[in-house]
Order: sequence, then structure tokens, then C-alpha cells
Amino acid sequence: MKYVLVTGGVVSGLGKGVTASSIGVVLKSCGLRVTSIKIDPYLNTDAGTMSPFEHGEVFVLDDGGEVDLDLGNYERFLDVTLTKDNNITTGKIYQSVLEKERRGDYLGKTVQVVPHITDAIKDWIASVSLIPVDGKEGPPDICVIELGGTVGDIESMPFIEALRQLSFSVGQENFCLIHVSLIPVLGVVGEQKTKPTQHSVRELRALGLTPHLLACRSAQPLLETTKAKLSQFCHVQAANILNIHDVPNIWHIPLLLRNQNAHLSILKQLNLLSIATQPALDSWTRMAETFDNITNSVKISMVGKYVGLTDSYLSVAKALLHACIACSLKPQVEWIAASDLEDESKKSTPEAHAVAWKTLKNAECILVPGGFGDRGVSGMILAAKYARENNVPYLGICLGMQIAVIEYARSVLGRERANSTEFDAQTPDPAVIFMPEGSRTHMGSTMRLGSRRTLLQTRDCLTSKLYGNTDYVDERHRHRYEVNPEVVQALEEAGLKLIGKDETGKRVEVMELPSHPFYVGVQFHPEFKSRPRRPSPPFLGFIMAAAGRLETHLSFGQNGSASMSL
Ligand code: GLN
Repeated sequence: MKYVLVTGGVVSGLGKGVTASSIGVVLKSCGLRVTSIKIDPYLNTDAGTMSPFEHGEVFVLDDGGEVDLDLGNYERFLDVTLTKDNNITTGKIYQSVLEKERRGDYLGKTVQVVPHITDAIKDWIASVSLIPVDGKEGPPDICVIELGGTVGDIESMPFIEALRQLSFSVGQENFCLIHVSLIPVLGVVGEQKTKPTQHSVRELRALGLTPHLLACRSAQPLLETTKAKLSQFCHVQAANILNIHDVPNIWHIPLLLRNQNAHLSILKQLNLLSIATQPALDSWTRMAETFDNITNSVKISMVGKYVGLTDSYLSVAKALLHACIACSLKPQVEWIAASDLEDESKKSTPEAHAVAWKTLKNAECILVPGGFGDRGVSGMILAAKYARENNVPYLGICLGMQIAVIEYARSVLGRERANSTEFDAQTPDPAVIFMPEGSRTHMGSTMRLGSRRTLLQTRDCLTSKLYGNTDYVDERHRHRYEVNPEVVQALEEAGLKLIGKDETGKRVEVMELPSHPFYVGVQFHPEFKSRPRRPSPPFLGFIMAAAGRLETHLSFGQNGSASMSL
């Protein structure tokens, strides 16, 4: 196994994750099989309990792992399917060591950070890097490891030490360290400053790790003199100093790296030059350039709870992007805080209320994404009602589907107090209820997580057509509540079709309103499996509907295959 370690220095938020995934893209384009590991030095065992407000979205994997959103970047960029073990946290490492200690596996020894924690980290990396993630047999060729945080952080010290030991034990030709750093420009002269990078490389070297390559983030391209200085002071060959300056969209980053021959420097270090091919990035280049040249856009209103931090819905935003590009449109996403739509806000914050409604009414389509808790729920219900009554394309994801069902029960079935027991435990009309897969009384996790099969009850529905005339779909889940099986019949009789069910036939997975141009709700999260050049079918249908092209798309899709050609 060959390892490429990506560390970060100077400041956080440099786009280390995108840099590391772009390096993976370039290496993959050279014919190598690439996997990745993200290390998050925080103490949480996984991202499942972390607030999207603070940390961005919780990404969900096929195996039900709730992980850092960077794993989403890897899955999308490398087109792989990762496992929960590809995300290492301090919490997971300590948990495994403490479990061993309780079992008595350490035979009376004092259990210490070095060697027990560091050994656990090394063992974890060694075994997880071997898992095939691209659907092929056998271990990958290269594992890109991204170390979260900034070099020098107290919490990342055991990881740095473990990685130092790893570099030593696997040998020079199996280990390549790329340090991502920032080159700021200061003062009126606009000089590119190398000192922060010098310091962070020095810090890394003091910890026993020497970078082979530097990836320097800057607004403008680096000057040759800046590179020369970095090379001299950081002890890195000039050819190995990469520059990631600002680009029109993130898909340019692999191209930028390829143009600077990053692959040659890495392959040389890893002694892989003889087996690697020339980087084949033609279709990637087309995608990056097509996007730059798109002039038309589509206005999408996203009505949610966590609208302050766009990373909170990162995969939804990416899925919209993939779908829009397939339609030659740029997504113009307008975020609406659901609570601003509510009647209460008309009194307390009239301006915000007016702006929110104006935005909603201007939108060409409306999306209500997933979420937890009752904040903003009435606003989301108003948005779903507006979309339904005005024939505006609506896509409800997870909570967004539950919202649409509640709205339908209230407005069409006349059950005014219909609600989810998540928001009103005492509701006389529970339209959405708690339905754990395991035992109700069982301790621990009650969330329905990861990939589950949805059976479509007829091929004569939008969802089946969008997925390519299929009888079933496998998508990822993350929820506790479900549509109450007892209201299904009444909803169906009133025109709402609950056409996707789980394998037991009890859980509602997909909802459609045939009398509407596009009113679709899904209990799963299709955004997690959306890929550039392979948009998620419900998202594609949603954008096609917004652009007035759904009919054409579907008839084309049935004769040939629309999604194949995208
Ligand atoms: N809160 C809802 C549930 O638990 C929806 C979850 C979600 O949207 N991810 O079922």
C-alpha cells in the first residue's frame, strides 16, 4: 500500500479536503485505484451528534456511517463508496483501546498514548486502506489520508506521531506527504508572504515529518520568486511546490494540479512512474469548462432550518449542481429560513417575512431538505402548500416529505391538527410517527441509517421513470419518523400516491402527486449518491420540471436512456 498524507498548516478552512480529493482524482486518472481516509481529531465518535450549524452536514454512507462531510467530497470526486471506518476520530480510537483494556488484552501493562493509541491508529489505517471502495476486487493502490485540523493542534498530536511512525515503517517509497498551506498577500506592495508556511513546515519537521510537496493556496498565481523562496526555506524541491490559486469552480483544481505535474512528483516519490499512465482527464475538463460557460440559471428556493451555514446542506447543494449542469443551467439557490415564512414572523420581523415570501414566490422550484426538531416546521408546511396549490415543482427530502404529507392531511383531508409526533407528541391526528426498525425499548441508536431498498409499486410513476424504469431503488436513510401506515389509505383516496414502500410494505418511502407537474417527496436522502456527470434522478426530474422539460426528458428516457447520455 502506498500512502499520500495531506496535512494543513497556517489556518483552517484552506480547502484541504478538496485539495486531497483533487489529488485523488489526478492519481485515479493515471490508472491507479485510490481510496481515502479522513482523520478527524475531535473526541466525538462520529459526526452523528454534531450540529450542522457548527460543523456542516452529517454525511451518510451506505453502511449507515454518519461521517464528516469531507467523505462526501471523496465519494463524489473519486466516485467510490466508502465505509464508516474510512473516517477515523479520536473518539473511535480511544473507544477501541479502552474496550481492549477492559477485556484485559494489554496483559497488565500500563496503557499509554505511545504506543497503544498510536498503534491503534496505525493498525486502523493499515486495515482500512485495504478495503476496495470502487466495486472492484482486491486492495486499492493508493490511500489518500487527510489529517483534519492544523498541524500543531493539541488533539492531532497522537495522529502526527502515529503517521510519523507509519512513514518510517512503510519506507520512503511508500509514503508521500503533501502539506497544504496559505500564502497571504500583505500591504500596499502586495507581496506574497512565505513566512507562515515556513513556520508551519518547521513545526511539522520538528514533529518528525518532512513534506515532499507543498500545496500553496493563494488568491493569485504564485510568483517564481515566491516559489524559489519557499523551496529554499522549506526544504522542498521547486518542482514540488504546487499552487492552488482561486479558480472559477472546484472542478478546476484537479486540472490545476495536473497542469503543474503534481502527479509526476507524487508518482516519483512513490516509485509508481513505471506503472502509471498519462492522466486522462478529458471528460473532467469538459465538465469544468461546460459549467463556466453556462449562462442560463434556475431559481431554487431552499426552505430549511440551518440556512446560516451553506455547508449544512452541502450534499443537497451539490446534487442540485449536478442536476442543473445536466440541464445546462446554473443553480441559483436562494435560502429561506423557514421560520421567516410563518405568520408570527409577520408581526415580529415583518421585513424578513416579506422578503422570504417574495423569494418563495419568485422561485422556479421549491425544495424542503431534511432536518430535525420543530423549529420552522410551520413555515415549511406553508412552503409545501404554496408549491402544491400553485403547481410549482416541489422536492421534499426526508423531513421535506413528511412536511408535504402533513400539509396534505391538513388541507385536503381536513385533519387540521395532523402532525408528526416529533413536533407534537399529543397530536390527535398523527400523520407521521416514530417507527424504529429495532425494538422500541432497546437502548441506543434508534435512527434508521444507511442504504435500504425501496420497492416501487408501479412502473407507471415519475420516480420509476426517473430512475430508468425500475422496480426498486437503493438509497441512503437517516431518520426516526415515518408516515403513519394508518393514514396511507385516506391519503391515497384523496389523490396523494405513496408509491414507494420498504421491503416490509409498511414504511412509506416515496410520495407523488400525479395531478401536479412535480410534487415528489422521498423518505431517503438521494443527495448522498449524486455524482458529477451522474445526477441523482429525483434531483434531475425536479430541475427538468422547473425548466419545463420534464416531459421531453421522460419520453427521451424511455426510448433511449436520458440519464445515460448525461
Ligand atoms: N426528523 C425527521 C425524522 O427523524 C426527518 C429526518 C431527516 O430529515 N433527516 O424522521
